[in-house]
Amino acid sequence: MRTGARLLMKLTILVLVASLQVGMSCTAAEVLPNSTLARSLVPPPGFVPPPLHPGGVELETRQLGKGIYALMSNTPFTDNAGFIVGRDAVLVIDAHFNGAMGQQIVDAVRRITDRPIKYLLNTNAFGDHVFGNYVFPHETMIVAHQSTIDALRISSVEGMSRTMSRTVGGDLSVFAGVELRLPEVGFDTYWHVDLGGRRVEMHWFGQGMSPHDSIVYVPEAKIAWTANMVFGEGTIPWARSGNIAAYLETLQRFSAKIQPKIIVPGHGKIATGGIIDTYQRYLVGVLEAGTLAVAGGLSGEALVADAEVSADYSISPPLRVLMTGFHRWNLQAAYREVVR
Ligand SMILES: [Zn+2]
Repeated sequence: MRTGARLLMKLTILVLVASLQVGMSCTAAEVLPNSTLARSLVPPPGFVPPPLHPGGVELETRQLGKGIYALMSNTPFTDNAGFIVGRDAVLVIDAHFNGAMGQQIVDAVRRITDRPIKYLLNTNAFGDHVFGNYVFPHETMIVAHQSTIDALRISSVEGMSRTMSRTVGGDLSVFAGVELRLPEVGFDTYWHVDLGGRRVEMHWFGQGMSPHDSIVYVPEAKIAWTANMVFGEGTIPWARSGNIAAYLETLQRFSAKIQPKIIVPGHGKIATGGIIDTYQRYLVGVLEAGTLAVAGGLSGEALVADAEVSADYSISPPLRVLMTGFHRWNLQAAYREVVR
C-alpha cells in the first residue's frame, strides 16, 4: 500500500466532514433505472459523453495467465471484457454492447476452447455491459449483483438506448435486435465459483461509478476486472452517480479485501494494481477541493469552469478531453456534497 498514514488521516477527516453534511446515505443496494441515473447531475462545461460506439470495434484476445484471457477493445474507451477457462467450464466477464459484440466474445472463446460457457458475469446495469447477454447459449447462467438485476428489471432496451444515445453519436441503429436478457442469479456482497481447478470471485464493495459496480477477481493470478469502478492506465474515476465520499469508501473496502496486481478495466488500457491507490488519492483531492471552495466562498460554477486534471495523474493523451469532463463532473459532485 502506497497510501500513507497522513493521507489516511486526511481522508478520514474529509469523509467524516462529508458524511456529516450529507447525512451519509450510503446507498447500499439502491435501485435506479438507467434513465434516472442519467439525470443524476447536469453535465458541467466541457463534458463529453464516453465514446462507446461499437462500430468497427474488435476485441483482441490477450492471455494474462493460465486459462485467463482479457478481451481488449481496439479503441481508447469502448468496452473490454474477458474470460476464464477451467477444467470443466468457461466463465465470461461482461457481454458488451449488442448482439454482434456479444457474438465476438463467444467466437473469441470458441477459438481457445470448446468447453461450455457456463457462466456470464454482468459487472453493472449499463447497456454496454449487458446488451450482448441474449446471444449467449441458453444454458449459460448469468450472474450479477442484485441491484443490477433490480435496475434492469425496471428498464427497457428503448429506455436504456435513449440514455446511451449520446455515447454513440445518436446512432440508435447499434441497438437493433437487442433483447434484454436479465441475469438469473443475484448476489449480495460476494459470489464465487470453481470452474475446475480455477476459482473466480465476484465482489460488490459498494457504490462507485454507479450503485451496481462489481469486481471480478481471479485470486491465483491476482487479476481483477474492475468494470466502471476503475478505468484503465492514465485515467481518473467518474463519479457518475455523485457521492464522492461513498466512492472513496468503496475503494477503501476494495483495497482492504483484495490486492490485484493486474487490472483489466471495463474501459481503457490494462493497469497495475497501484491505480486503486491513485484513484483514492484523486477522490481525496476532489473532496478537498470541494471543501476548500465552499469554505472560501467560491461558487460551484467557478470551481468547475476551467478545471483541469493535475499532471500528477498522467492522463492518457487520447482520453484527455474525456477525463477533463469527468474531472469537472467530479468537482461539481464534490461541491454539492459539501454544500448539502
Ligand atoms: Zn462501462
